This record gives sequence, structure tokens and C-alpha cells, in this order.
Amino acid sequence: MGQQTEALIQFHRCLNLQADFVPAKSQIKKILEAGGVAVPDEVPCILQVVSEYLKEPCPITSLSGSQGPTRPEVLKRTLHGDEGEGKGNREAHQGSKVKHDSGTECCLSLCQAVSFLPAAEEDEEMMMRKEDGHGKDESSHCRAKTLGVLTVSDFECPLCIRLFFEPVTTPCGHTFCKNCIERSLDHNLRCPLCKQPLQEFFKNRKYNPTALLQDIMTQLFPSQLAERKQVHDAEMAELSNLTKDIPIFVCTVAYPGMPCPLHIFEPRYRLMMRRCMETGTKKFGMCSYEHGKGFADYGCMLEIHTLELLPDGRSYVDTVGGSRFRVLKRGQRDGYHTADIEYLEDLEVDGSELEDLQHLHDSVYQQAQDWYERLGSRIREQINRQYGTMPDTEENIQASSNGPAWCWWLLSVLQLDPAYQTTVLSLTSLKDRLGHVRLVLEYFSQS
Ligand SMILES: [Zn+2]
Ligand SMILES: [Zn+2]
Ligand SMILES: [Zn+2]
Repeated sequence: MGQQTEALIQFHRCLNLQADFVPAKSQIKKILEAGGVAVPDEVPCILQVVSEYLKEPCPITSLSGSQGPTRPEVLKRTLHGDEGEGKGNREAHQGSKVKHDSGTECCLSLCQAVSFLPAAEEDEEMMMRKEDGHGKDESSHCRAKTLGVLTVSDFECPLCIRLFFEPVTTPCGHTFCKNCIERSLDHNLRCPLCKQPLQEFFKNRKYNPTALLQDIMTQLFPSQLAERKQVHDAEMAELSNLTKDIPIFVCTVAYPGMPCPLHIFEPRYRLMMRRCMETGTKKFGMCSYEHGKGFADYGCMLEIHTLELLPDGRSYVDTVGGSRFRVLKRGQRDGYHTADIEYLEDLEVDGSELEDLQHLHDSVYQQAQDWYERLGSRIREQINRQYGTMPDTEENIQASSNGPAWCWWLLSVLQLDPAYQTTVLSLTSLKDRLGHVRLVLEYFSQS
């Protein structure tokens, strides 16, 4: 009996909202006639008969009275699929198990779905507001009708609490922005909401957008979605900036033109690499660690050539050194270091100064070659495999803003103390750099 009463209340609500809702009408008839009550044909009369039959008008009025404030909550539960905590959710699930011809239970869930429709008064109010603004047309009427039920907050990502951007739904049924769930998976391979393991989902990395959700948002909240996209684009532009707040990988000293293979496993660097790829810059700064400062005052840009993602989230990244830079200001972003930087270029000289420089260059190159030749063939092969063979001299030693490539090759091969490496990296005078290389070669030739 309790279930029938509940059903009657629901059908009453349905019919009240939508007079031509035939299933509700026929179900009411069925229930009441089974109880020996004659049911009229006109909807207003039916509603009255139901009220009288229940002999307790309170449940109906109180239900429809509380309808407004409780509805969004119930709806949210349904949308977010929260382990069937919501009454509506549990019952909808129950309803789906019942065959269509077996009576009231099936229709109960149907009615509940219908009960999310806005009440008539609310609808009119919406239309009035719309008319004040942009005038009345079919689509704005439609939107107003749905807006009464769904609000922007129903389309919020539980991780960033903003409108979904590229929503992705996990196998456990929870939805997040693509970037948000990826960041969460950097730290933990479980759903941040229900803690279900997501290893398989992560392994495939098939983060397809939830198309229906995107369509609904496009239809219902076009301006908010456009705004959200603008915010995203602004963030991307910020992340693409290669002088202000550039990402800094704190690990080693990299040199212009020299390969720098990296093994990425820390969550913050996974995020950094992903952003470099997503923005398309494929570039980040590399600095060595320096006590007290976090990282050194000078570094070298690295460009990602290949990035191999491993199933467990780690990755192998092949990079090559580019421009050198000086750190102007240190910062942080989402757990990794950033810096405002200025790029360094060798100062060009000419006349007799250039002549002297050429002489110095030639003699240090000869010195380097002698050292290289004196190495055992086994060590030389090892070096060649890792760093390539020793580069030739260049016709114009000032052609590159980083000076001759062989200097950087030699400095990589010699594996010096990071602080010393950084010092040599910071020099913008080829003459000074050659001076250091000469000293190092003399040291290595003695030992
Ligand atoms: Zn998000
Ligand atoms: Zn989940
Ligand atoms: Zn499909």
C-alpha cells in the first residue's frame, strides 16, 4: 500500500505538470479502479480524485512545495552517479530492472524523470525574463525551460570546480576535465572520487571527450563554454611564453646542440612534459641544482625531439640543447620551478681581436683533438655512441650565437662539476670559454 501511495503521489505530480502525460493518467486509473474508485476522464477531476483518495493532501502539497530547492541536488546526484546515494538514483536503477508491463514500478522511474521538468510558474517566469532581454523565440524558450532544471554548476569538474573543459568519463562513470584527470593520474592511478583502480584506462590513454556532455553544454551554456575556452586559451598562451615563467627542469647542465636524454617519473615533470607537448612549444629550461637558490642562475633550453610514454606513466624523453639563458626571477607553477629569463648570445668581435680569437680557437681545437686521439679506442667508441663524434671546426667561428659546436661537445664529454659547467655556460665571450676549455684540457692531459 505504501508503494501505491508513493506511486500515486508521483503520478499526481506528473499529471499536474503535464496534463497530457498519458502513462500517468492510465496508471492512476489502474490503481484507483483496483481500489474500487471511479475515475473521471478530465485531468483536473482526476487530480482532485487522487487528492481525495489519498485523504492526506499534505504529502502532495509538501512534495511539490519542496520541489524547487531539492531538485538540483537530486539531479546532481544523478548526473554525477554517486554510488546510488540519492533516492532518485536508486529507484531509477530499480525501475530499469522491472519489465514495462509489470505495473507501477517501471513508470515510477519514468515519472521521476518527468518530475525534473520545471513547474509551470517557474517556466513562465523564465520566459518573462528572456523576453525582457533578447525577445522571445523558439530556441530561447527551449533553453529557458531547461535552464530551470540544469545550472552551470551541474557541469562543474569536481577537480577544478570549473565548467568541464574537454570532459572525459572514466570506466567507473565519473567525469572530469581531460587535463584534470591526467594530473590526478600522475599521482594516483585511482579515480579521485570513488577510488576505483584506473590502470587499464590509464594504460590506453584513450581520453575521448564525452561527446553528449559537450553537446549539452554547447546547447545550454554557449556563452559560459566560450568563456571557459577563453580561460583555457589564456592559460595555454601563458604556458607557451618562452621568456616569462618558463618551466625549469632542475637536474643537470645541458649544452647547446648536445643531446640530453631524460627519464621522467616525478609527477611534476610529467605535467611539465605534457604541457610542453600540448602547447606545442616542446621546450623547457634545464638548470642544475644549486643549494639555497633551488637552481642555478644560468641554464640551457631543451627541445623535445621524441617522447616515449611508458604504460606506468614514466617516460623517456630525448631532448637537444638550444639557447642559453640567464635567470632573472624564480617562480613556481603547480609544483615545478619556473623562471623569467633572458637569452644569452656570444658577443661578436672583429679586426685584430677576431684574428687573435681565431688563433686561440685553432690552438685549443688542436689541443682537444690531441686529447681525443690519445683516448683508448674503447673509450672513444663509448663517447661517440653517447655524444656523437667530435665536431669539425666551423669556417666562421662566430656564425652561431653559441659559438663553435665542438666546445659544447667537449664540455659534455669531460663531465665536469655542475657549478663549473654552469660558469662556462654563462660566458658570452668565446675567448673566455676557450680559455676555460684550455685549462680543463691541460688538467685532463696531466692525469
Ligand atoms: Zn577540471
Ligand atoms: Zn569513479
Ligand atoms: Zn562511439
